[in-house]
Amino acid sequence: MSENRKNRTGTGLSFEVFPPKKDEEFENVYQILRELGSLHPDYISCTYGAGGSRAGKTIEIASFIQKELKIDAVAHITCVGFTRTDLDANCAALKEAGVSHVLALRGDRPQAMTDEQYNRREFHYASDLVRYLREHTDLTIAGACYPEKHFESPDFEEDLRHLKEKVDAGAGSLISQMFFDNDYFYRFLDRAAAVGIRVPIHAGIMPITTAKQLGTTVSLSGSSVPKKLADLIATYGDDKEDMRKAGIEYAVDQIRDLEEHGVDGIHIYSMNKVKTTTDICHMLRSSL
Ligand code: FAD
Repeated sequence: MSENRKNRTGTGLSFEVFPPKKDEEFENVYQILRELGSLHPDYISCTYGAGGSRAGKTIEIASFIQKELKIDAVAHITCVGFTRTDLDANCAALKEAGVSHVLALRGDRPQAMTDEQYNRREFHYASDLVRYLREHTDLTIAGACYPEKHFESPDFEEDLRHLKEKVDAGAGSLISQMFFDNDYFYRFLDRAAAVGIRVPIHAGIMPITTAKQLGTTVSLSGSSVPKKLADLIATYGDDKEDMRKAGIEYAVDQIRDLEEHGVDGIHIYSMNKVKTTTDICHMLRSSL
């Protein structure tokens, strides 16, 4: 267990941030990162724009996390939109930036990308990327996983089979897609263990603080919405502050239950929202 976690339950904690879309918002991100860093996560990961847009910004942010905050930075990288040459250049830039940990993803197809551009990618699946990185770099590699299966996969067994290939190719840990019903995650852990997946699996938690956010999140992730969360939106959705509080409490309850079940780690999709993330961490720590 890292030094950062000794005051907690032994379950790891990490956050995810994204590079702001506009250059003028970029200065704010450093303050956001400092505040997130003061919560002592084990690592902070930074997303990669679909198709590699603003790739340099991911590296800039990851470098700040690693060098300035001295927290393990995990840079997301994707295959879609990339050739091997692009990837080699990206890895060299990561090394130069002092970043040695990546989340290797296939990525989603950007709307503007043609079939030809999409099919031209040299690494078809995340496992191809993981294998290449393991053979050609000394990066520490994580992969993504889906407690409710990936939306393209015809069934859970097939998705799990490909997940095992990704782990065998060199993904040393997994970060899950967000879920709102912990039972999906527990079932997923059992099934992953049954096919021989033994690496740490970090549970993705997305705090829902507005009714609108739930709609967007669900359409992007495909995660199921349990009745308890739907009821909460129906009750508090019209009141901004009450909804925020209720959404935070929901996330805290989910995390406490996951901690009690001894999961390896909690990965909060912070989405650059410092106050929400801080409130969650303070509530968790006050209950220890
Ligand atoms: P893969 O592991 O390649 O799986 C994709 C699909 O292909 C699955 O259905 C799988 O079952 C199937 N498959 C795998 N291997 C094979 C095979 N050999 N033959 C046939 N089918 C196969 N996207 C971004 O663009 N930027 C980000 O920063 C980003 N961060 C993310 C962080 C997390 C924690 C998660 C969970 C997702 C993130 N995503 C991000 C989204 C991700 O790129 C998409 O979910 C994408 O659709 C799948 O990526 P993957 O790496 O899981 O793909």
